[in-house]
Amino acid sequence: MSEAVPSQKTATGERALRIAVIGAGASGILSGIKLREAGIADVVIYEKADRPGGTWRENHYPGLSCDVPSHVYRYSFEPNPDWSRLFSPGPEIQNYLEAMVRKYGLDEVIRYDREVVRCEWDGARWEVELSDGEVDHADVVIAATGVLHHPRTPEIEGLERFEGACFHSARWDDSTVLDGKRVGIIGNGSTGVQITTAVSGRASHLSLFQRTAQWVLPQENPVYSEEEKARFRDDRELCQHLYRELNKSFITNFSHAVVDAESEAIAMVETACRAHLDEKVADPELKAKLTPDYRAGCKRLVVAGGFYEALQRSDTELVTEDIESVEATGVRTRDGRLHPLDVLVLATGFQTHQFIRPTKVIGRDGIRLDDAWAESNRTYLSISVPQFPNFFMLVGPYSPVGNFSLIGVAETQLSYVMQLIEVLRDGRARQVAARADATERFFAEMVEATKGTIWASGCKSWYIDKSGVPASWPWDYDRFESMMATPDLKDFELL
Ligand code: NAP
Repeated sequence: MSEAVPSQKTATGERALRIAVIGAGASGILSGIKLREAGIADVVIYEKADRPGGTWRENHYPGLSCDVPSHVYRYSFEPNPDWSRLFSPGPEIQNYLEAMVRKYGLDEVIRYDREVVRCEWDGARWEVELSDGEVDHADVVIAATGVLHHPRTPEIEGLERFEGACFHSARWDDSTVLDGKRVGIIGNGSTGVQITTAVSGRASHLSLFQRTAQWVLPQENPVYSEEEKARFRDDRELCQHLYRELNKSFITNFSHAVVDAESEAIAMVETACRAHLDEKVADPELKAKLTPDYRAGCKRLVVAGGFYEALQRSDTELVTEDIESVEATGVRTRDGRLHPLDVLVLATGFQTHQFIRPTKVIGRDGIRLDDAWAESNRTYLSISVPQFPNFFMLVGPYSPVGNFSLIGVAETQLSYVMQLIEVLRDGRARQVAARADATERFFAEMVEATKGTIWASGCKSWYIDKSGVPASWPWDYDRFESMMATPDLKDFELL
């Protein structure tokens, strides 16, 4: 157990801070790199697993890939000339993140197999308790715990009675044989679509259980030739140019589309999805089943190639009848039909509004984050919560999520957080937390703005929180970057 020691000054006169980062996924690794680069030596990253990588470690299902272009889905300061394709397979991203940990010597500061179960403000610092009972103390806590993290297991009658292999997509059992087996997949979000495309043709029979049709934007995924990779290797600026261009066209344009449900840009997205369906599916009955009754972009858009082709194989079936129950040997649908299965995959998504919880976070005067967030996950600019001093979140509630690169989002947010940490280092304050009035004002503006977004146009999706509001940044990406450029300290309580 480490002792609570008062913070010292460094040789340059700055207050020496101990910073605890929770999670060694893409944003936790980023935090480790940037904090140490800024001269903050006393950094610890607690990681509950035995490896870094976050979502890219947890997910290893067949067909896993990223639908944000490879040259965007990476740290802005670490171009990778060796991406194999326009869109990276998941294992390449995991390798990239592990390479970053090695390159920046982060194994020195990451403590693996350490789950943080409680963070409690003791009046001066954070007490950070780990699952083995160890207690650490830190001046600042950065929650880099991700969004798509806690699997959602569906409540389906009889699920526990299934006698074959059954697992959530984010808990994939690599020892389960799929080849020649009867495989069922519940869920047709981005994950279910990728698994279907990869497993169709390997399974003797594949049943995709679809509750709601999805819009699917077509995706070509060409490989980068050896010549192209060599050019990227020789010319770092070429990689950076590509980053900027792809970022601009993919992220900025898309963000304008989704935040304005009446925009021409979002209508064009739907036109492209419809054309994709028209081009790939001729059978009117199948096409009708695959045509959503809500607007494209309302749910998180699926971007995929090969999915419609996979569904039209003779060994693959789209089941749209509602599931009634799961039995020992398969799934029974409401029409009374039993779909016999050897393997049942739950591609049923995540509890996307949990964030750092179930870790108990307790701020000033014993206020619990659970209580502060009883109605909705109120934050100031997604990063700070009133009464929780020196506690910052990356990719917290209402960050730009969905089809954006969460690595880019985390970079922008971390740069903002670093400026607040600087306030603590240079002695302007010992505690920084968003003011309650600023948070209420910001939150009210944000909720109002969500009304004009495509996510509020009438569908059920993982964006919608328990207060019925889509919890995603409701303005365009330019506004995100400009609002996150410099903290307005008037909106913070500095003690
Ligand atoms: P998801 O988008 O939340 O989809 C969950 C699916 O499960 C939906 O089709 C849902 O149907 C279905 N479902 C849930 N409960 C069900 C039940 N009780 N009975 C029948 N169906 C049920 O989850 P996901 O596909 O794992 O994707 C989550 C997010 O992860 C994505 O939106 C994306 O942001 C990210 N992701 C990204 C990539 C990438 O390439 N970058 C790849 C995979 C995932 P309803 O639609 O009817 O609710």
